[in-house]
Amino acid sequence: MAWSKEETISRGEMQGIQLGRLQKTVRYVYDKNPVYRKLLDAVGVKPDDIRTLDDIRRLSFTTKQQIRDQYPFNLFTAPQEDIVEFHATSGTTGKMVVVGYTRNDIELWTEVMARACTGAGITRHDIVQNIYGYGLFTGGLGTHYGAMRVGAAVIPMSGGNTQRQITMMQDFGSTVVTSTPSFLMHIHEVGEQMGVDFRKLSLRTGLFGAEPWSESMRQAIEEKFGIKACDMYGLSEIIGPGVSFECHEVRKGLHINEDYFYPEIIHPETGEVLPCGEEGELVLTTIGNEGQPLLRYRTRDVSRLSLKPCACGRTLVMMDRITGRTDDMLIIRGVNFFPSQIESIILKRQGVSPHYIVVVDRKGSMDEVEVRIEVTDDFMSKAAADVLKGSEQEILKDVMLARQKVENLKRDIKDIIGITVKVTLVPPGTIPRSEGKAKRVDDKRPKGN
Ligand SMILES: [Zn+2]
Repeated sequence: MAWSKEETISRGEMQGIQLGRLQKTVRYVYDKNPVYRKLLDAVGVKPDDIRTLDDIRRLSFTTKQQIRDQYPFNLFTAPQEDIVEFHATSGTTGKMVVVGYTRNDIELWTEVMARACTGAGITRHDIVQNIYGYGLFTGGLGTHYGAMRVGAAVIPMSGGNTQRQITMMQDFGSTVVTSTPSFLMHIHEVGEQMGVDFRKLSLRTGLFGAEPWSESMRQAIEEKFGIKACDMYGLSEIIGPGVSFECHEVRKGLHINEDYFYPEIIHPETGEVLPCGEEGELVLTTIGNEGQPLLRYRTRDVSRLSLKPCACGRTLVMMDRITGRTDDMLIIRGVNFFPSQIESIILKRQGVSPHYIVVVDRKGSMDEVEVRIEVTDDFMSKAAADVLKGSEQEILKDVMLARQKVENLKRDIKDIIGITVKVTLVPPGTIPRSEGKAKRVDDKRPKGN
């Protein structure tokens, strides 16, 4: 069952809503925001020129850099007294990207997150352990609002506090976890050392997002926790989590809340709009936001749209799970790939854990890639025990086994991404853990190349 009626309406009805809201949004930013008025004047578009949905192509794109350039509030369209909440993305690569929400924006956000929670099968009978960070990051509060709206009881844990997370799962009987996949895997690792069997707890569902994750990571999470893992997608610039979500019945793509976020797929280099079904960069236009509406925002995320009907009954357009951001895409010796492609290989092999990092460096004029992967505790303790016993034959066997693992991984990676990489096995716990989004790439190449 869908949360709201807009999720199951006909294409014609949906397009009617979208056109009305698009026209209203363009009129609104043109009238209220001098920056937008200038941008629209520059391409010679007046609000009355938006007569069909295709007229959206006459508007220019908005980029993250443009939002940064207007730091902090110049892209806000609502007056300051109507803003009730701020969020911002971390400023690791330049100035923060700031977002301001009006009361209506918070209501819209709550609504789309209630749809995502319902999509994951969360109801008023659930206890939701919300592990997304609370604060300027949108993950914590967005999930909190949505889960409360469907009537669930929320434990506002935020990130970190790994041991206490486990205690809460045990003592409060959490039935749902909402988290980044990488942090939940970290919780599992710590719990395992404490002798916790997560499959025996009350957990039954998880709602994951905020970083690209693979289908194999989903299988690993479902197996280790005995839960059903659903994906959701969003970004702070647009609203936070809740832009799109999987339905727990099918889980073959994410339903976009397109009555609020109008999607397009473009060619990342030419900017040309691609037909439905082709892969490219996702572009979103907010058609319900008041605080800081964005026209044709380039997300840098790679996806594909589909209008195939879903067995759950929702008619919302679907997008493929995000395999990577155009920003995270590595280009090595002319070959493009995403770290998540390597992740699926690692998860299929025994004896290694999904804790890995891709290190890129330049030796002379050649780019070299090293994939550092942690071996499992079992593998490590057997090897250590053999060394202590001093059994040369067993030690030799361990060495051969490790070498074999490296060779197999190298071959699998080359099969998938097409280039030879160096594979290094490292002891468990040596790759830094994140309590938010996992860092999967360490690019040591000189900048500006
Ligand atoms: Zn569905």
